Amino acid sequence: MLAGYAVHVEHSRGRRYPEPPHPYRNDFQRDRDRVIHARSFRRLEAKTQVFSRRHSDHFRNRLTHTLEVSQISRTIAGALGLNVDLAEALALVHDIGHPPFGHAGEKTLDACMREHGLSFDHNLHALRIVEDFEQRYAAFPGLNLTSEVREGIVKHSRDYSAKDHPELAEYLLDQRPPLEAQLIDLTDEIAYNTADLDDGYEARLLSLVQIRRGVPVFDGLFREVEQLYPHAPDKLKFNETVKRELNRMVEDLIKNTQKRLTENGICTLEHVRHFPERLAAFSAPVNAERRQSKEFLYDKLYFSPALADEKGDAERIVRELFSFWMKNPAALPHNYQEKAKAEGESLARVVCDYIAGMTDNFIYGQYEKHCA
Ligand code: MG
Repeated sequence: MLAGYAVHVEHSRGRRYPEPPHPYRNDFQRDRDRVIHARSFRRLEAKTQVFSRRHSDHFRNRLTHTLEVSQISRTIAGALGLNVDLAEALALVHDIGHPPFGHAGEKTLDACMREHGLSFDHNLHALRIVEDFEQRYAAFPGLNLTSEVREGIVKHSRDYSAKDHPELAEYLLDQRPPLEAQLIDLTDEIAYNTADLDDGYEARLLSLVQIRRGVPVFDGLFREVEQLYPHAPDKLKFNETVKRELNRMVEDLIKNTQKRLTENGICTLEHVRHFPERLAAFSAPVNAERRQSKEFLYDKLYFSPALADEKGDAERIVRELFSFWMKNPAALPHNYQEKAKAEGESLARVVCDYIAGMTDNFIYGQYEKHCA
């Protein structure tokens, strides 16, 4: 049963190119499936989340991270009476615009673009992928996703001003996104705050002592686990603790969002859209814990000396390839050369699009070929 404040698929604003209904799947289920069948979705498998393939095959990559975000989003959406199909589609598509090499790749690509008075933003890039770059269907370019899924791509993690982004006017920038989209940024954090502790510990970049000292909520939960399973190996106590931390955030997000909806008398999607702020939120204490975990991860893992070399490599590879193609556009694949000739398209944007679509493996190969 969907709540009144959920997005109801029969009220969808529809697709850019109208299509007849499908006999077995509704429009959001079809969007979810179109994302799963997209080439850029498959490429997530070879894109770094935090650890590259050089470390180990059992750490998260951007695809397995995406699947975890999707699992958490489905649970929370279901518990809140939201549209689970829409939440799932949005979770599966949320990282599709990420360039190779995790955040180092994204930052460097943005820095390269800024030298040309432009910028790179993974949400806007994701929108271009689903609107244009994916070529699967004879009847239309892109995936022809519903307006709600495209709006969620644009708005899941930040608000864009209508003044700076006139091209996004159709996405109701003066309104809040539906709750299904509001969830994604928070479920993304639940997923990586816990998974990165796990991978960091497994990679031996974070020790149990260090985590217990730096993340008080983890320490508190670890004490509970120790009482329950005093003889279990540390790794299993660790797993039990991470699981509890994840559940704690999920439960808090469900309960606190429910509370905010009730307290503010939110009964319809229109209420959600016109409320002055986003309604999906953690409670203040859990939000403080979340921030603490995140700061710990930034300090001790993402900016750790152990990952510095890899990050340096990533920056150098992106930067050198970007300037190589800016100087040698004839070395770009033919279809990108054609794009660069199009009216109103800059070479920098075309080079950026090309690089952003690459997997870690592919960009290494390109670097060897053109720059090494
Ligand atoms: Mg993510």
